[in-house]
Amino acid sequence: MNKRINLTGLSQPKLIAFVEEIGEPAYRGRQIFAALHHRRLRSFDEMTDLPKGLRERLNETAMASTLTVQSRYLSTDGTRRFLMKTHDNLPVETVFIPEEHRDTICFSSQSGCPLQCTFCLTAQLGLLRSLTPGEIVEQIIIALNDVYGVGVTTPRGTNLVGMGAGEPFLNFDSLMNAVRIMAEPQGLFIVPHRVTVSTAGVVPRIRELATIPDRPNLAISLAAPTNEMRNELMPINKKWPLEELLAACKDFQATLRAGERFTFEYVMLDGVNDSDEQARQLANLLNRHDLHARVNLIPHNPADPLPYQPSPVTRVEMFKSILESKGIRAFVRRPRGRDIFAACGQLAAVTQNVGLRAV
Ligand code: SAH
Repeated sequence: MNKRINLTGLSQPKLIAFVEEIGEPAYRGRQIFAALHHRRLRSFDEMTDLPKGLRERLNETAMASTLTVQSRYLSTDGTRRFLMKTHDNLPVETVFIPEEHRDTICFSSQSGCPLQCTFCLTAQLGLLRSLTPGEIVEQIIIALNDVYGVGVTTPRGTNLVGMGAGEPFLNFDSLMNAVRIMAEPQGLFIVPHRVTVSTAGVVPRIRELATIPDRPNLAISLAAPTNEMRNELMPINKKWPLEELLAACKDFQATLRAGERFTFEYVMLDGVNDSDEQARQLANLLNRHDLHARVNLIPHNPADPLPYQPSPVTRVEMFKSILESKGIRAFVRRPRGRDIFAACGQLAAVTQNVGLRAV
């Protein structure tokens, strides 16, 4: 086992404390922080502005990176999926999604996932383990370096979404540490405003997020308008049923500040949760709780072992117009990277068995 500390998981103040502990001046900490997060270097040997002796000591006591890219898949729509491995050989997946005015990187918060949402492929892995702050931050560094080159300034803004494998709110402290590290101006400088985390509904952490001033945007995965249906699709609903979840959402809504985004996600499963009646139930439910957040409709991304099909386009449009007729803002999310198993709910370390070729 590797006991060396992963410096990519330390904030700048913690990194300064680390170098001071090994007898170095504070500015070395700032220098190493910039090398890791601004220059996006992944080994001490590349930090040639550090004295050789210090690089050697760092190699003995610490690590600059711990993830390795196992394979990489390119979609016809420009999306890239990275299948990485942790030092203990567990899968981590990250998706880079280019758009006209910004790039979005979808990162994982856990290897596998303990929730058993029936429509999501990641659920089939079970929970392998939660990722460390360093492992979360490194995913972003690896994706940006792959797309633009090591340390090259990105041409567009970068948005982050915590919608990859895992339930971010079951790894809350590491997630929030990673968000703070990525926000630092001397590093990646991706501010919380540009980050959205999605939860299946871990109520205590929604309430905790409501108390945090510098926080990422929040998305809530709903998938069903009634407890009966949600219990079936998302078993976490048995622990925190809709009334409790939506009460927490309402309290969270009351803390929203200008510019913060709060959304609901609703995966559309053909013939399961996409009827006119269910659209009315969903609209009534949100109206009853006085919730004004937009609903993102996500056509299901199919995968062989999952017993669902995406709702047809006309059904999605009808569902959307019923929501709108009841005053709910709704938006249809266009799936990206389906051909390389990079879309929502398709991350399960899928490789050669579906005939994909790594590039
Ligand atoms: N555990 C978190 C984050 C990961 S899921 C959560 O549940 O929010 C990210 C989004 O993908 C969720 O809104 C989820 O409902 C959606 N999703 C999962 N499987 C999907 C699939 N097969 N097709 C489309 N969306 C899916």
